[in-house]
Amino acid sequence: MKTYIKLIYFTFTSPIRRKNQADSQESHQPFYFDVRGSSFEMPSGKAENGDYPPTLTASESEQLLSTIKDWSIANGLAVRPPLSLVKSDSDPHGILATTAPVTLFPSPFPRVCFEQAKSIQKSYNKLYAAIAQDEKFLGSIVQEILEVDEFIAQLWQVHLKVKEEGYVQNLSLGLFRSDYMVHQSTNDHTPTIKQVEFNTIASSFGGLSSQTSRLHKHLSISDYSLLDNPLLARNLDLPENSSTTSLASGLRVAFDTYKSTSQPLHDCCIIFLVQDPERNIFDQRHLEYALQRDNSPIPVFRLPFGQILSRTSVAKTTKRQLLYHVPSHTSTIFEVAVVYFRAGYGPSDYPDESAWKARFQIERSNAIKCPTILTQLAGAKKVQQVLASPTSPDTPSILNRFIKDSPKEIEDLEKTFTNIYPLDESSSGLSARKLATDPADCKGYVLKPQREGGGNNTYRTAIPPFLKSLPETYWKSYILMEIITPPPVHNIILRNGVLEQGGVICELGIYGTCVWDQGTGEVIHNEEAGYLLRTKGDKSEEGGVAAGFGSMDSCRLV
Ligand code: ADP
Ligand code: MG
Repeated sequence: MKTYIKLIYFTFTSPIRRKNQADSQESHQPFYFDVRGSSFEMPSGKAENGDYPPTLTASESEQLLSTIKDWSIANGLAVRPPLSLVKSDSDPHGILATTAPVTLFPSPFPRVCFEQAKSIQKSYNKLYAAIAQDEKFLGSIVQEILEVDEFIAQLWQVHLKVKEEGYVQNLSLGLFRSDYMVHQSTNDHTPTIKQVEFNTIASSFGGLSSQTSRLHKHLSISDYSLLDNPLLARNLDLPENSSTTSLASGLRVAFDTYKSTSQPLHDCCIIFLVQDPERNIFDQRHLEYALQRDNSPIPVFRLPFGQILSRTSVAKTTKRQLLYHVPSHTSTIFEVAVVYFRAGYGPSDYPDESAWKARFQIERSNAIKCPTILTQLAGAKKVQQVLASPTSPDTPSILNRFIKDSPKEIEDLEKTFTNIYPLDESSSGLSARKLATDPADCKGYVLKPQREGGGNNTYRTAIPPFLKSLPETYWKSYILMEIITPPPVHNIILRNGVLEQGGVICELGIYGTCVWDQGTGEVIHNEEAGYLLRTKGDKSEEGGVAAGFGSMDSCRLV
């Protein structure tokens, strides 16, 4: 019996791939080879894909696959398998794991862009910490979309309710990620980065990302040099990636600051607030294990969003400490110093009123939230659009409101913006409506609602019919963004045992950690925290790895 791995060239039936189409792709000229047995069946001819990545023979592909599938499980570059791969009755106890989708080679990425993205992260941290402190600014944005966006309205209500009672915790933690694509205009040969979005909640893949960098480094000292077209480690510039330890350090700073400022009544812990089930669990576990590897390990508990009310309570004190009741020993109580949200960013985590009660319970407690509701709202696409509004001598950049006396920082931040328009009834919004509904102009744009997590956007020619299907009163809750088209890159992606080869699009994310005081504005900690490179087939619009669109990658600086 043979099991085949399919090598698929990236071709897709449609440039628009909505969430439910994540795994549907049309293959073109597939060829097959056996990964389990030693015999291969391969049509004549090799994949022609230029100098990089090197053209592989069937046995070279098999060798790389063999290394990657073992290295990834041995080192936790893994996810729980999708149902399409392992049916639940084949794994009733949920014990199986599989290699996370990953590229066979690190993708070439311009060094200047990598450096630019890293060097600006602390300014971005500072900017978003300042936005999160500006309730008036966020309130005005929320006000515009309240009536047509129930989710944002509910979040705002929770914030207002806590505000009325008075927040007890002024410290905030941000584990941020700023996402970019490379932009190269035809008349200017220096590539630059353009921001896709800024994430302020559940910024994921930091745990898997440093492992991906390690995997490619491992391959560079093992398999790559043995290829017919060898790649030598000394010729590959593979940057260090500290994402796991750096994100864990951010959590630790918040934890330590809580302990030193809050006179805790109990032993302290960090809660990872999670979805259940969660396929991307190992990504989160890496951060947890990093917190425990230290000389002073921090207790971490995973709490499914739906169990907040049964496993936590708020002390009836003026401090409102958040107490965690260990389910296996209900008399054991920890005081929650930090709540790290890996859930709660979208409406599906709030199926009923009790979920909103649960969010309120966390928000009003003394635990340091990562993020608070205000910080979560700062990450709304609408905020990004307002920041990116074109400036003129009469209307200076809104960034001046958040970053004082630092024109260079503002200039550097603005360099990363691309055109984003509102779809409201302002004059800019009305012009954007024309672009969005024009059958030709719409091809250069993506339409985004105020949502996170992938699969929510509408691309290019799908925009006009989509808008037509919506009452016009809803249009203002969307933003219209120019599509960024990075220079072509080739790579091979391993996903669910299948190799997909062809043109790819890379998206760089830079993590940042920031702890600040909402009351005084003091920034206690501000660091750049490693990177993520995600790569997808160049015919796919979405890039989310967990949503099934993208794969993990690392940078080969060029
Ligand atoms: P989400 O909050 O759902 O992650 P994003 O704004 O990150 O929303 O969009 C999802 C994906 O869509 C991105 O990862 C990227 O691959 C693609 N995308 C979004 N905006 C653009 C853009 N302006 N140009 C090109 N691709 C984009
Ligand atoms: Mg995104």
